[in-house]
Amino acid sequence: MHELDSKATPRTMISEQKLAQRVAELAEEIDRDYADSDRLLAVGVLKGSVFFMVDLLKHLQVPVAVDFFQTSSYGDSTEPGEVRIRKDIDLPVRGADVLLIEDIVDTGYTLRTILDLLRFRKARSVRLCALLDKTSRREVEVPIHYRGFEIDDVFVVGYGLDYDERYRNIPYIGRMD
Ligand code: 5GP
Repeated sequence: MHELDSKATPRTMISEQKLAQRVAELAEEIDRDYADSDRLLAVGVLKGSVFFMVDLLKHLQVPVAVDFFQTSSYGDSTEPGEVRIRKDIDLPVRGADVLLIEDIVDTGYTLRTILDLLRFRKARSVRLCALLDKTSRREVEVPIHYRGFEIDDVFVVGYGLDYDERYRNIPYIGRMD
């Protein structure tokens, strides 16, 4: 049972069933695209991507290594667009096919920063998989190869996404009004 204040219960935007279906479709595409890769490295951005990442990777047949970045939380940086890496990945990137997995792309600064870093470290290839895309909010371009859902500019929680560290474990994507 979730201990949510009834007044603060997020309204369902993407149901558990729809999430499961889309995640399976994305995994099928990824599995096909990386079938010949001998060094697939899935890199998640903590903490929001964890629920999505686990569900996605469980579908894959292709062998995959797993690692995580953690960046400064939203609104934490002194300048918009200034992203701090709070935890770096541990595994070597050179020569790897990196699949970067993120919960939501908003302005794009977080992923732009990480993508540039992975390229600098000479990954063989880098692709981005994002569950949610707030396209209208974009300030810097990021190429999303695998996209779950495009959403409007609303604040969402659940399936890994939080509001002040709450709601991550609700199994659907909900909007906070
Ligand atoms: P960006 O660098 O693209 O502006 O920000 C991406 C990060 O902002 C996401 O990883 C997430 O932590 C946070 N974020 C952006 N929009 C939302 C939202 O609607 N809900 C929640 N919980 N986090 C969001």
